[in-house]
Amino acid sequence: MATLGFASMPAARYNRPMKRKKQAARKTPAPASTRVAGRPRVARPGSRAPAPISEPRSFEGACHCGAIEFTYTTTLPPPRWPVRLCQCSFCRGHGSRSTSDPSGELQFRFERPEFLRRYRFALRTADFLICKECGTYVAAVLLSGRGAQGVINLNTLRAPPKGLRPGKPVSHDGESGEGRRARRVLTWTPVVGPV
Ligand SMILES: [Zn+2]
Repeated sequence: MATLGFASMPAARYNRPMKRKKQAARKTPAPASTRVAGRPRVARPGSRAPAPISEPRSFEGACHCGAIEFTYTTTLPPPRWPVRLCQCSFCRGHGSRSTSDPSGELQFRFERPEFLRRYRFALRTADFLICKECGTYVAAVLLSGRGAQGVINLNTLRAPPKGLRPGKPVSHDGESGEGRRARRVLTWTPVVGPV
Protein backbone atom coordinates (compact mmCIF):
# COMPACT_ATOMS: atom_id res chain seq x y z
CA MET A 1 0.00 0.00 0.00
CA ALA A 2 1.36 3.39 -0.89
CA THR A 3 0.98 5.27 2.35
CA LEU A 4 3.44 6.12 5.07
CA GLY A 5 7.15 5.45 4.84
CA PHE A 6 7.75 3.16 7.73
CA ALA A 7 11.52 3.43 7.52
CA SER A 8 11.40 7.13 8.29
CA MET A 9 8.96 6.83 11.14
CA PRO A 10 9.93 7.02 14.80
CA ALA A 11 10.77 3.77 16.46
CA ALA A 12 7.96 2.00 18.23
CA ARG A 13 8.43 2.36 21.96
CA TYR A 14 7.74 -1.32 22.39
CA ASN A 15 11.03 -2.05 20.63
CA ARG A 16 13.14 -0.40 23.27
CA PRO A 17 13.75 -3.24 25.70
CA MET A 18 15.06 -5.42 22.87
CA LYS A 19 17.26 -2.61 21.64
CA ARG A 20 18.94 -2.23 25.02
CA LYS A 21 19.54 -5.91 25.20
CA LYS A 22 21.17 -5.95 21.79
CA GLN A 23 23.37 -2.95 22.50
CA ALA A 24 24.56 -4.49 25.73
CA ALA A 25 25.46 -7.62 23.86
CA ARG A 26 27.48 -5.63 21.32
CA LYS A 27 29.77 -4.19 23.99
CA THR A 28 31.37 -7.57 24.36
CA PRO A 29 34.47 -7.44 22.14
CA ALA A 30 34.22 -9.67 19.12
CA PRO A 31 36.70 -12.54 19.02
CA ALA A 32 39.92 -11.46 17.34
CA SER A 33 39.33 -13.77 14.43
CA THR A 34 36.20 -11.85 13.41
CA ARG A 35 37.85 -8.42 13.31
CA VAL A 36 39.38 -6.92 10.21
CA ALA A 37 42.94 -5.93 10.99
CA GLY A 38 43.86 -2.29 10.56
CA ARG A 39 40.33 -1.10 9.90
CA PRO A 40 38.74 1.20 12.46
CA ARG A 41 35.54 -0.13 13.92
CA VAL A 42 32.79 1.99 12.47
CA ALA A 43 29.19 1.61 13.40
CA ARG A 44 27.25 0.03 10.61
CA PRO A 45 24.78 2.38 8.96
CA GLY A 46 21.48 2.02 10.69
CA SER A 47 22.97 0.06 13.56
CA ARG A 48 21.30 2.47 15.99
CA ALA A 49 17.90 1.63 14.56
CA PRO A 50 15.83 -0.53 16.88
CA ALA A 51 16.06 -3.72 14.93
CA PRO A 52 14.46 -6.08 14.25
CA ILE A 53 11.92 -4.23 12.17
CA SER A 54 9.97 -6.59 10.05
CA GLU A 55 8.06 -5.68 6.92
CA PRO A 56 4.75 -3.91 7.55
CA ARG A 57 1.87 -6.35 7.66
CA SER A 58 -1.78 -5.48 7.32
CA PHE A 59 -4.59 -7.05 9.31
CA GLU A 60 -8.25 -6.70 8.38
CA GLY A 61 -10.93 -6.13 10.95
CA ALA A 62 -14.63 -5.37 11.03
CA CYS A 63 -17.74 -5.36 13.14
CA HIS A 64 -19.92 -8.46 12.93
CA CYS A 65 -22.18 -7.17 10.15
CA GLY A 66 -19.40 -5.46 8.17
CA ALA A 67 -20.75 -1.92 8.39
CA ILE A 68 -17.45 -0.75 9.94
CA GLU A 69 -14.24 -2.16 8.51
CA PHE A 70 -10.60 -1.30 9.07
CA THR A 71 -7.09 -2.19 8.04
CA TYR A 72 -4.42 -2.17 10.73
CA THR A 73 -0.83 -2.05 9.49
CA THR A 74 2.17 -2.58 11.72
CA THR A 75 5.77 -3.71 11.54
CA LEU A 76 5.45 -5.37 14.93
CA PRO A 77 5.01 -9.14 14.71
CA PRO A 78 1.93 -10.27 16.68
CA PRO A 79 3.95 -11.79 19.57
CA ARG A 80 5.24 -8.26 20.27
CA TRP A 81 1.91 -6.48 20.11
CA PRO A 82 0.83 -4.85 23.35
CA VAL A 83 -2.44 -6.49 24.40
CA ARG A 84 -4.23 -4.29 26.90
CA LEU A 85 -7.25 -5.31 28.91
CA CYS A 86 -8.57 -1.93 29.96
CA GLN A 87 -10.42 -2.32 33.24
CA CYS A 88 -12.89 0.52 32.70
CA SER A 89 -16.51 -0.61 32.79
CA PHE A 90 -16.97 0.02 29.05
CA CYS A 91 -14.04 -2.19 28.00
CA ARG A 92 -14.82 -4.89 30.57
CA GLY A 93 -18.42 -4.90 29.39
CA HIS A 94 -17.32 -5.50 25.83
CA GLY A 95 -14.53 -7.91 26.79
CA SER A 96 -12.29 -5.84 24.59
CA ARG A 97 -8.57 -6.39 24.06
CA SER A 98 -6.85 -3.27 22.75
CA THR A 99 -3.73 -2.81 20.72
CA SER A 100 -2.01 0.05 18.94
CA ASP A 101 1.30 0.95 17.34
CA PRO A 102 2.37 4.62 17.17
CA SER A 103 4.54 3.69 14.17
CA GLY A 104 1.74 1.83 12.44
CA GLU A 105 -1.30 2.90 10.49
CA LEU A 106 -5.04 2.48 10.86
CA GLN A 107 -7.54 3.02 8.07
CA PHE A 108 -11.30 2.78 8.46
CA ARG A 109 -13.95 2.10 5.84
CA PHE A 110 -17.46 2.99 6.85
CA GLU A 111 -19.42 0.83 4.44
CA ARG A 112 -22.71 1.70 6.09
CA PRO A 113 -22.07 5.10 7.74
CA GLU A 114 -25.61 5.21 9.07
CA PHE A 115 -24.70 2.32 11.39
CA LEU A 116 -21.73 4.10 12.93
CA ARG A 117 -22.29 5.24 16.50
CA ARG A 118 -19.64 7.43 18.14
CA TYR A 119 -19.92 6.94 21.87
CA ARG A 120 -18.26 9.27 24.36
CA PHE A 121 -18.17 8.86 28.10
CA ALA A 122 -16.29 9.84 31.27
CA LEU A 123 -13.67 12.43 30.26
CA ARG A 124 -15.02 12.40 26.68
CA THR A 125 -11.53 12.46 25.22
CA ALA A 126 -12.15 9.86 22.50
CA ASP A 127 -14.90 8.49 20.28
CA PHE A 128 -15.63 4.81 20.77
CA LEU A 129 -16.83 3.45 17.43
CA ILE A 130 -19.71 1.06 17.85
CA CYS A 131 -21.90 -0.51 15.19
CA LYS A 132 -25.57 0.34 15.75
CA GLU A 133 -26.62 -2.68 13.74
CA CYS A 134 -24.64 -5.50 15.33
CA GLY A 135 -23.46 -3.86 18.56
CA THR A 136 -19.75 -4.51 18.09
CA TYR A 137 -17.23 -2.16 19.68
CA VAL A 138 -14.58 -1.86 16.95
CA ALA A 139 -12.11 0.88 17.85
CA ALA A 140 -11.64 4.24 19.53
CA VAL A 141 -10.25 7.40 17.96
CA LEU A 142 -9.15 10.81 19.11
CA LEU A 143 -8.09 13.94 17.31
CA SER A 144 -4.78 15.40 18.41
CA GLY A 145 -2.21 17.84 17.13
CA ARG A 146 -0.76 14.88 15.21
CA GLY A 147 -4.08 14.20 13.50
CA ALA A 148 -6.39 11.32 14.24
CA GLN A 149 -5.11 8.38 16.24
CA GLY A 150 -6.84 5.20 17.17
CA VAL A 151 -6.76 1.96 19.09
CA ILE A 152 -8.43 -1.22 17.86
CA ASN A 153 -10.37 -3.87 19.69
CA LEU A 154 -8.27 -6.71 18.37
CA ASN A 155 -11.11 -9.18 18.93
CA THR A 156 -12.60 -7.67 15.76
CA LEU A 157 -9.71 -8.78 13.51
CA ARG A 158 -11.11 -11.16 10.90
CA ALA A 159 -8.28 -13.65 11.39
CA PRO A 160 -6.93 -13.83 14.95
CA PRO A 161 -3.15 -13.25 14.75
CA LYS A 162 -1.03 -16.14 16.00
CA GLY A 163 1.21 -15.87 19.03
CA LEU A 164 -0.39 -12.90 20.75
CA ARG A 165 0.63 -12.25 24.32
CA PRO A 166 -1.93 -12.84 27.03
CA GLY A 167 -3.78 -9.62 27.78
CA LYS A 168 -2.41 -7.32 30.44
CA PRO A 169 -5.01 -5.67 32.68
CA VAL A 170 -4.53 -1.91 32.73
CA SER A 171 -6.37 0.71 34.73
CA HIS A 172 -6.28 4.40 33.99
CA ASP A 173 -8.47 5.53 36.87
CA GLY A 174 -7.48 8.86 38.32
CA GLU A 175 -5.92 10.11 35.10
CA SER A 176 -6.67 13.74 34.17
CA GLY A 177 -8.10 14.57 30.76
CA GLU A 178 -4.75 16.04 29.72
CA GLY A 179 -2.80 13.07 31.02
CA ARG A 180 -5.10 10.68 29.22
CA ARG A 181 -4.78 12.58 25.97
CA ALA A 182 -0.97 12.73 26.27
CA ARG A 183 -0.73 8.98 26.91
CA ARG A 184 -2.90 8.18 23.92
CA VAL A 185 -1.00 10.53 21.60
CA LEU A 186 2.17 8.58 22.45
CA THR A 187 0.74 5.10 22.13
CA TRP A 188 -2.20 5.08 19.69
CA THR A 189 -1.96 4.38 15.98
CA PRO A 190 -2.08 7.20 13.42
CA VAL A 191 -5.29 7.05 11.39
CA VAL A 192 -5.29 7.72 7.64
CA GLY A 193 -8.49 8.37 5.74
CA PRO A 194 -11.91 8.92 7.27
CA VAL A 195 -12.43 8.92 11.01
ZN1 LIG B 1 -21.97 -4.11 12.57
